[in-house]
Amino acid sequence: IRGAGTWKSERVIASRQGPHLRLAGGGAGIINFCANNYLGLSSHPEVIRAAVEALEKFGAGLSSVRFICGTQSIHKDLEEKIARFHQREDAILYASCFDANAGIFEALLTPEDAVLSDELNHASIIDGIRLCKANKYRYKHMDMQDLEAKLKEAQKHRLRLVATDGAFSMDGDIAPLREICQLAQKYDALVFIDECHATGFLGPNGRGTDELLGVMDKVTIINSTLGKALGGAAGGYTTGPKPLIDLLRQRSRPYLFSNSLPPAVVGCASKALDLLMESNAIAQSMAAKTQRFRSKMTAAGFTISGKDHPICPVMLGDARLASVMAEDMLNRGIYVIGFSYPVVPKGKARIRVQISAVHSDEDIDRCVEAFTEVGQKHGALP
Ligand code: PLP
Repeated sequence: IRGAGTWKSERVIASRQGPHLRLAGGGAGIINFCANNYLGLSSHPEVIRAAVEALEKFGAGLSSVRFICGTQSIHKDLEEKIARFHQREDAILYASCFDANAGIFEALLTPEDAVLSDELNHASIIDGIRLCKANKYRYKHMDMQDLEAKLKEAQKHRLRLVATDGAFSMDGDIAPLREICQLAQKYDALVFIDECHATGFLGPNGRGTDELLGVMDKVTIINSTLGKALGGAAGGYTTGPKPLIDLLRQRSRPYLFSNSLPPAVVGCASKALDLLMESNAIAQSMAAKTQRFRSKMTAAGFTISGKDHPICPVMLGDARLASVMAEDMLNRGIYVIGFSYPVVPKGKARIRVQISAVHSDEDIDRCVEAFTEVGQKHGALP
């Protein structure tokens, strides 16, 4: 792995998650631009208090899976709240969204069925699909012509499921859900979306990509995470029609054979959802900051992939350039990470910047200044 230049080393943080960090053995006041903490709820005082209260009242953990002795009232409450948040019939919790994705396709689809998956879907969707015995079709990234061709081909199967990320984490682009839902209707298919990079902040009330694009009643299944905007602790879920959720409780292997979510984690997510359902101000809080970063970086001469999403990939092309620039950004107090092959396609290396509601305008301006200096130094800017 080292020989291929793809060894990943981990930086060690000595403070809590937030816009400003202290690194172990290093300086304080590092500005963090690579957390999925889109709404800043990971260190929100009410979220932390809710976790402490749940820990004290319900204990450290369940020492059990859900169907043995691992279901507490807070698990049922959180499932009900998730379903209400997404305006769906029911929801089921998992230890992670990775598990939710690993557990759904195999439980739902048989060898008589078909799954049609965007080629750039998250690794956990790809792995989940690998585990199922359905017929597999991979369509070109957000290419509706190709999806339509594959849907035509898949008419011979009993049931068709189109699977896509709502927002794609490496590019900050948003799936054309309206068009996908139209095609699904035309070719009698179900639609599944992974909303890890949308839940809590996309759409007028933060419900996600389906709310943003006006198709909440057309998407059948949503998988998402509690480990990003919704408090950032851990956990994932599926929400959708009640018979599907009932089936997952019987058949989904990561649910059946893995420990229940710890009460503190449930407490965090539950409070995060309360905050989001009380007012849409939090969901809206990040958009202006994203706009500030995107427009200032574009004016400085950088190419930022995606549109209007807080994932702002600074496209650099060369893998070494991305890695050297990210190191140099840290020397200037800005924590960002370079991504290169195999995480993104060859020749499309980038530094992914993620904006959070808790970044100040000054934080964003400091980031743009550092990018400009480092970009000029390494020849990424004229
Ligand atoms: N799906 C997508 C699109 C993701 O970005 C991630 C996390 O990186 C996951 C699923 C997995 O989520 P979790 O961390 O809850 O396992």
